Amino acid sequence: MFKKPTILYVEDDVDIRNQLSKFLNYYASKLWTAEDGAVGLKLFKKHSPDIIVSDIKMPNMNGIEMAKEIKKIKIKQHIVFTTAHSESSFFMEAIEAHVDGYILKPIDLELLESKLDDICEQLDTKDKLIKQYLISNEIAKLQNNLLIVLDEFYHPIFLNEKFLCYFGLKDIEEFCQKHISLSTLLIPENDFFSPTTNDTKHCLEELENLKSDERIVSILNYKVNRSEAFLVSITNVKESGHTIITLSEITSLTLLKKNLEKKAYTDELTKVPNRAYFEEQFILEVQASKEEGQTFAIIILDIDKFKDFNDTYGHLVGDEILKELASIVKTQTRVGDTFARWGGEEFVKLLPNVDLTKAKKIAENLRNSIDKNIFTQGLRLSCSFGVAEFQEDDTKESILKRADNALYKAKENGRNRVEG
Ligand code: GH3
Ligand code: MG
Ligand code: MG
Repeated sequence: MFKKPTILYVEDDVDIRNQLSKFLNYYASKLWTAEDGAVGLKLFKKHSPDIIVSDIKMPNMNGIEMAKEIKKIKIKQHIVFTTAHSESSFFMEAIEAHVDGYILKPIDLELLESKLDDICEQLDTKDKLIKQYLISNEIAKLQNNLLIVLDEFYHPIFLNEKFLCYFGLKDIEEFCQKHISLSTLLIPENDFFSPTTNDTKHCLEELENLKSDERIVSILNYKVNRSEAFLVSITNVKESGHTIITLSEITSLTLLKKNLEKKAYTDELTKVPNRAYFEEQFILEVQASKEEGQTFAIIILDIDKFKDFNDTYGHLVGDEILKELASIVKTQTRVGDTFARWGGEEFVKLLPNVDLTKAKKIAENLRNSIDKNIFTQGLRLSCSFGVAEFQEDDTKESILKRADNALYKAKENGRNRVEG
């Protein structure tokens, strides 16, 4: 059942008015009556009833004139005419006035009731839609995320306040006028999704091809002139063809993840990459070399008689030496090479596109720099080097083994030397 409507009834014939008012009084939640169009118009302006039931032929202002005036104020006002056959000349005018219908006199109450029921149902649906719209709007406002709704042609039809505020936009019209699209908002940055096209549909498809936790984009927060990370979630509403996109700000989480990753790949003491990082690069390099027929070399270096330094000067001095040594090797590492602490007093270097001869030369230079360097407390030390070049049928383990054997040879042959 629907809500009872408020009704304005306009009729100049007192008998008919009194008679129909009985029914309308029962049907409506509130009924106003008027004896002609002019009074009817006045009451409409005052009370704004849900429905107007009106006679056509009346003194002062007839029903059609009144309806036209009313429609000027409220185009969607529901009006039903009650009319006699003799007034059929008004029919065309009534149609032009876009009224909801007419009931012939003498009035069939059942017919009138069913007509009024139809209108009430429409009012009810409209009421529900308005309420739903208001609720959705409130939900969108509460959202701490940026929200965009696109229609089936990928044109924006809704942006929530948070979105407008973030980009300093007045309203959705400004967004459209400035030809802003999802892809133009995204900053191409490492570790973030950047679309290959400006087309919103393709951009969304590319995003949807990623795992949901990888849909991370970088957007400029122009207020603080800093890019921020957002996780994108995309919902396709099948029934309407709409797409709802939410952007959740996760800058601090992204930074945390990056820091954790960095920590997991960094050696605590020397702050150079650790073995876990090296192993990852190593696997990739073996794979790439096999696929592309390139070569690479690795160098293992081990401090000579390091135990003696620890025993003589203490572990803390030993630590200091390790840090200094790491820094020397790091400064002699080219972009594209990987240098890491393998463990203890051993370090490794991965040199893409370098053959054995060149790698041995590089190791020799390094050996020389370390040999000449004066470490903490004026100490001097040396390192031994094992070098190996990648062979076609090598595995990670087999090339490491060759480098390790070469290092062993360097130690055996008197230390402070390069073998390979
Ligand atoms: P060799 O020339 O044969 O390599 O002799 P070595 O003394 O360097 O080799 P050995 O394997 O006998 O000893 C390695 C030493 O390195 C022992 C260990 O205490 C020291 N060491 C390993 N990691 C650390 C560290 O993080 N800090 C300090 N201070 N010492 C370390
Ligand atoms: Mg060792
Ligand atoms: Mg050693």
